[in-house]
Amino acid sequence: MQEKFTGSFTQQEPIPDAGIKAAMDVLHHGRLHRYNVAEGELGETALLEQEFAALTGAKYALAVASGGYAMGCAMRAVGVKAGDKVLSNGFTLAPVPGAIASLGAEPVFVEVTDSLTIDLQDLQAKIATSGAKTLLLSHMRGHLVDMDALMAICDAAGVQVIEDCAHTMGASWRGTHSGRHGVVGCYSCQTYKHINSGEGGFLVSDDDAVMARAIMLSGSYMLYERHAASPPAAVFERVKYDTPNISGRMDNLRAAILRPQLTTLDAQVDKWNARYKAVEDGLRNCPGLHVIDRAPEGRFVGSSIQFRLPGYAPAQIEGFVQGCAGRGVELKWFGAAEPKAFTSRYDSWRYAQKQALPETDRILAGLIDMRLPLTFSEHDCKTIARIITDEALTLSQTVAVE
Ligand SMILES: *Cc1c(COP(=O)(O)O)cnc(C)c1O
Repeated sequence: MQEKFTGSFTQQEPIPDAGIKAAMDVLHHGRLHRYNVAEGELGETALLEQEFAALTGAKYALAVASGGYAMGCAMRAVGVKAGDKVLSNGFTLAPVPGAIASLGAEPVFVEVTDSLTIDLQDLQAKIATSGAKTLLLSHMRGHLVDMDALMAICDAAGVQVIEDCAHTMGASWRGTHSGRHGVVGCYSCQTYKHINSGEGGFLVSDDDAVMARAIMLSGSYMLYERHAASPPAAVFERVKYDTPNISGRMDNLRAAILRPQLTTLDAQVDKWNARYKAVEDGLRNCPGLHVIDRAPEGRFVGSSIQFRLPGYAPAQIEGFVQGCAGRGVELKWFGAAEPKAFTSRYDSWRYAQKQALPETDRILAGLIDMRLPLTFSEHDCKTIARIITDEALTLSQTVAVE
């Protein structure tokens, strides 16, 4: 009998009781719109922003409708215009180039390395050839590039950095929270990320004018004084006539669900990383399978794990993925020719100019990805690792490796 796994890779934990109670309170009083507050009341959304600013160490925070919205809003707030070129990782997910396209700007993709982080040499080259003045840096799957080196390159070239921290909420680089190196950090509270309100997102920044514009862009009308983690009113006076309202607000119901989750985020990160380690330990000595080492300067969030199976033909990898699926282990493969479910890659985003990224192609051709929801136990993780190892062994024995 072959071992099988029966857990669900898309089942997250329930909303904590404190979040359910707070949500019920909002439903009872009915003031769901963030600016619909009683006299002197700071609504759930404003409180959430204060708490998120404190958590990340940012001066200002803004809660919005989604992570994708946060990135588009951040780019508008730093002054990206239609037709501008915006650098981003060749290895990321669809909301990232989508946010660039939402401004009518043009994505310029940068190669990825074997560590799944942006290739700093290629970044330097693409800054020079494209003339782009903005980098939308995606910390894809929580792999953190050397942020000190990246910021040195971007600062020297006058490139402003916006961080996509959809996979790094709760992570840090040398003790600084991810999203605090660039001018704006953007986060997602979508169900599959690190805190869950179904949909939702944040921007954080220390920059007065950027955050005032972001707040107005998000749809504050002239009610910006109902924010708490925000620049002084005088800053809004300078931007309020020139900043369009592109509604994408957070509401008090979702904020109520999220606030208790912020208080447990750090403990959740430990739980994720214990599960991650259980899988990683199980995969370490599997022939032909490469786990991806993470930089020791970074505290990451092991909410998913990636590994490489270099040198196999597409049909072989497909067979491996199907073999695992048949035993209840749901994997995604970034080398597939066609985009599938949440997984797509740069050459399927055909609204962007066609670009050649041979290194990224090589890496994605053998790249496997797996979610690790907290509903899995460490025992589950060991089972999963055994199944993957077993299938990888079959793969290495039955087919010739290049
Ligand atoms: C999920 C995700 C986002 C943001 O997505 P939303 O669904 O809009 O909240 C951004 N970048 C990456 C890499 C993501 O996976």
